[in-house]
Amino acid sequence: MKKFDREHILHPYAPAVPVAEMYMVKSASGVYLELDNGEKIIDGMSSWWSVIHGYNVPELNAAATEQLSKMSHVMFGGLTHESAINLSKKLLSVTDESLEHIFFSDSGSVSVEVALKMAFQYFNSQGNKQKTKILSFSKGYHGDTFGAMSVCDPVTGMHAAFEGILHKNIFCEEPMCSFDSEWKEIYIADFKEKIENHHKEIAAVIVEPVVQGAGGMRIYSPLLLKRVRELCTQYDVLLILDEIATGFGRTGKLFAYEYAEIAPDILCVGKALTGGYLSLAATLTSKKVMQGVEANGNILMHGPTFMANPLACAVANASLELLLNSPWQERVRSIESQLLKELGRCRELFLVKEVRVLGAIGVVELHKEIDLAWMTPEFIARGVWVRPFLNLVYIMPPFVISKTELTTLTTAIFEVVAAFEGVAE
Ligand SMILES: *Cc1c(COP(=O)(O)O)cnc(C)c1O
Repeated sequence: MKKFDREHILHPYAPAVPVAEMYMVKSASGVYLELDNGEKIIDGMSSWWSVIHGYNVPELNAAATEQLSKMSHVMFGGLTHESAINLSKKLLSVTDESLEHIFFSDSGSVSVEVALKMAFQYFNSQGNKQKTKILSFSKGYHGDTFGAMSVCDPVTGMHAAFEGILHKNIFCEEPMCSFDSEWKEIYIADFKEKIENHHKEIAAVIVEPVVQGAGGMRIYSPLLLKRVRELCTQYDVLLILDEIATGFGRTGKLFAYEYAEIAPDILCVGKALTGGYLSLAATLTSKKVMQGVEANGNILMHGPTFMANPLACAVANASLELLLNSPWQERVRSIESQLLKELGRCRELFLVKEVRVLGAIGVVELHKEIDLAWMTPEFIARGVWVRPFLNLVYIMPPFVISKTELTTLTTAIFEVVAAFEGVAE
């Protein structure tokens, strides 16, 4: 079976015939993945930020089964259903009150495309055809589709592979202030210069609030975000917040923008929206933005086949309810303090450049690039699933992880990084 996979099935950012070994997952329950050889390993990645309640959750299984018995899918053009309505009510009630409209799509990247369309159409419909660019921070990540790629970090992102094809946007220096660093205006200087000089051609700023994910796992001061909001308002530029990774409690707030006490014009959510059960994302926006988009008889031009898929909406509803009825703040805080203590120990390793923690996110940045083919079996041998990239070994476990299970994860990271010192020359 694995031979067929190897020869025919493509995997994320991997060669057609991968060099590294592929592990087969038979089932998953709680924080454990069960491999085909019966071994159980702790998932430190929450399947890329999404599985916040763990796997095989009775409440989510029940919601899926109930929805299946009604209908798994129905087109959203001209038709609607209870699952979409209930989920929208819930999402709009937990996000900023200025957000009143919601667009469902099937993946985070598509929700970003929709956000970009909203921003461009907002100005275009009102007769301003000059605003054709997006301003974003370096080291950001917003997805793999073309619009999303064009706002990802121009160096570590995928720009080189699509030279001459991607829409040319404007980038400023990545955030240089850590989460609790004292504020200095210099931190916003480059952003300020870019927006001052180019605001006539900038429709929107897109940013991952407080935590930059796949572009470099950097955590920055909410005060920077506050200044970004002020400058966007001052220069008539829309602010898109990409909470696809940070949303639903991951950083210790339900949404990371709450740290900055600001509101976005457009908000993208995805990943943990369905508790990692199904692919669903959403783009939320204000009345002001939708009215702008619809000026002069225009309408938002997007409509995916699986828009607001009832099965995904039903599970998302159950997931949000489960989250809100759980002591998630205490859980995330307790994971945070354990990560600070246990991952903090990695600082004594000479290969370690920095350890960063916020909420249920722990990052160990190394001085040199990791070796995935060497590291993965080392983690598996220690009973954990950790998927590092570049020079970053990081985890964002399910919120339901126990103290002992988390210690298994952090100990594995310490040991594997320590052992890597001997291998990495
Ligand atoms: C994962 C991610 C995306 C893309 O979401 P997909 O569902 O993979 O398309 C966009 N933005 C951020 C911040 C992400 O973490």
